[in-house]
Amino acid sequence: MSALALATLDLSEYAAGLNARLRSRPTLDVLRTAIRELFPGEIALVSSFGAESAVLLHLVAQVDPATPVLFLDTGKLFSETLSYRDELAARLGLSQVRVLTPDPKTLAANDAGGTLWFRDADACCRIRKVEPLQRGLKPYAAWINGRKQFQAATRRDLPLVESDGVRIKFNPLAQWTPEMIAAYFAAHDLPRHPLVAKGYLSIGCEPCTLPVAEDEDARAGRWQGQDKTECGIHTVIAPFPTRTRADD
Ligand code: SF4
Repeated sequence: MSALALATLDLSEYAAGLNARLRSRPTLDVLRTAIRELFPGEIALVSSFGAESAVLLHLVAQVDPATPVLFLDTGKLFSETLSYRDELAARLGLSQVRVLTPDPKTLAANDAGGTLWFRDADACCRIRKVEPLQRGLKPYAAWINGRKQFQAATRRDLPLVESDGVRIKFNPLAQWTPEMIAAYFAAHDLPRHPLVAKGYLSIGCEPCTLPVAEDEDARAGRWQGQDKTECGIHTVIAPFPTRTRADD
């Protein structure tokens, strides 16, 4: 499915049809269908190289290790995340890891001191995550991400396939449980992000991430003390300028 063909469809309807067709299929089958059949050359995986990312990266590498992997380097990440990214990419043979960074001019104009996260986290996420991802996703008709229903109350109803208003979005691990994730790590001897051993179960930017207690949601350590629960890449991607055929 090319981006051009996608532009002629009702994306919500198309996503719902794909969801019904694929939701009972094994995860690897879903990824094969998405990457090889539906969107060959038009799909990217977006990965944070966080606590559980190795599972989806390993699955995608089995389908095609040259699948583009978009990585948002906000400039505020833990150094451990950057090392883990390089280690995993080499281990899995991922040849197309593409690093997305904030626009330097926007950064200079809005966050020259690097403390916007403290004053206005939504604005900081918009500049350091949402806008760079919007630019990075421009060439693609579809994307894959690793969100799961169990991660937070706000993700309980996450479908396998959805539309973000502009593209098709695959959530292949939506119904995976923590036990399935742990079993997959063990079965494939995948390395853990070094901060997991220190209680970080969801790992974002250093200023906005804390370890969590055993009885807390994995994402409870993100933006602790604030109402904020999402960075915006999954909630405000659609309102950005609509793709036009000239963009494709
Ligand atoms: S998670 Fe924090 S530091 Fe990272 S972009 Fe968002 S507000 Fe800024």
